Amino acid sequence: MNFKFSKRVPNLDDDVVGEILKVAGDPEIISFAGGLPAPELFPVEAMHQAADKVFEKYGKDALQYTATIGNVKLRESISHRMQTNKFVHTSIDNICITTGSEQSIDLVAKMMVNEGDVILVEKPTYLCALDVFKSYGAKVVGIDMDEDGMLMDALEAKLTEYSEAKLIYTIPNFQNPTGRTMTADRRQKMVEIAEKHNVVILEDDPYGEIRYSGEVVPPIKHYDENGTVVYMNTFSKILAPGMRLGWIVADKDFIDAFVVMKQSADLHSDNLSQYIVAQYMEDNDLDKHIQSISDEYKKRATMMLKEIDEQFPKGVKHSNPEGGMFIWVEVPGNVNTMDLFYNCVKHNVAFVPGEPFYPDEVIPGTFRMNFSNMKDDQIHEGVRRMAVAINEMM
Ligand code: PMP
Repeated sequence: MNFKFSKRVPNLDDDVVGEILKVAGDPEIISFAGGLPAPELFPVEAMHQAADKVFEKYGKDALQYTATIGNVKLRESISHRMQTNKFVHTSIDNICITTGSEQSIDLVAKMMVNEGDVILVEKPTYLCALDVFKSYGAKVVGIDMDEDGMLMDALEAKLTEYSEAKLIYTIPNFQNPTGRTMTADRRQKMVEIAEKHNVVILEDDPYGEIRYSGEVVPPIKHYDENGTVVYMNTFSKILAPGMRLGWIVADKDFIDAFVVMKQSADLHSDNLSQYIVAQYMEDNDLDKHIQSISDEYKKRATMMLKEIDEQFPKGVKHSNPEGGMFIWVEVPGNVNTMDLFYNCVKHNVAFVPGEPFYPDEVIPGTFRMNFSNMKDDQIHEGVRRMAVAINEMM
């Protein structure tokens, strides 16, 4: 059958990431490739109790259709946390519950992007966001970054070159894939630049609360007084990704349009999940739970960085994340990290090559390593195997 797919469906033979994750999924392989939270930290018992209570108290309502914008109690809890943990004052009318940040990115792109419109992103950036933007025919332009996040001079230059740009997409905290965090000064500056050029900032913050060292930096949204920033967050990394719940915070006019777009995508996010998470937040201390995640990830990140420093060849550089789940590595000498990936697989270890994270020009020799879902002995042995494979190629 010739299915005559739309242009939005990518060439399935080019699914590099699917191929990488398939290979990395072999149980013999120690995989630093995925981006999964540690399942042993999921609060299974507390969620179970919350679910039981929901069925007892709200069974019929929780199984019914609900409003697109989302559960009131959940939005109230989020609004409160936005204020206490994110220094963003917002009303529940400015919050829409989504089916995870992936849906938020998709709906915002659908709302904002006509074919050929420009979206500016960090170089490198979250590869699934790149896939979304490309599926709507956006021209995605990369902005250089350093250890302190996106470079504001480079952003301003690109906005001058692409004066009709629609969006700046950024992951300011413990970025996926680099683990880098944008400084407060740059966040403030980004709002000024975006306002000057009349372009929306799409702030993606799934890792922000998983900070295990350094000082908290307020989100870009904190510096926004005119509705320039659309802020996205998710319960995936702080609670459980299987609940498929996230949220956006934006100007009321933006939320109104977003709700209409969401309505035609899925009517509303899972009502039962929303009830359970709202109940969980009422009965438990989510901050305490997040602290336990951060404590554990700190141990794993520290261990992986120490092993990299000790075992990888001289000249290899890496980021020093203060939170989140990823380390970005740079090997000298123009090593093709796709080739390195296949060599590592021969040694039963995997990571994600840098290539798919770049919107345009690829910086060779770069790749991402995940530490959140790995135990100490796997980190030690996996890094040792990678060191052997890297040495063979340098
Ligand atoms: N944005 C970034 C930067 C991510 O890393 C992820 C998850 N890997 C998402 C969005 C999507 O998260 P969710 O589970 O909320 O859809």
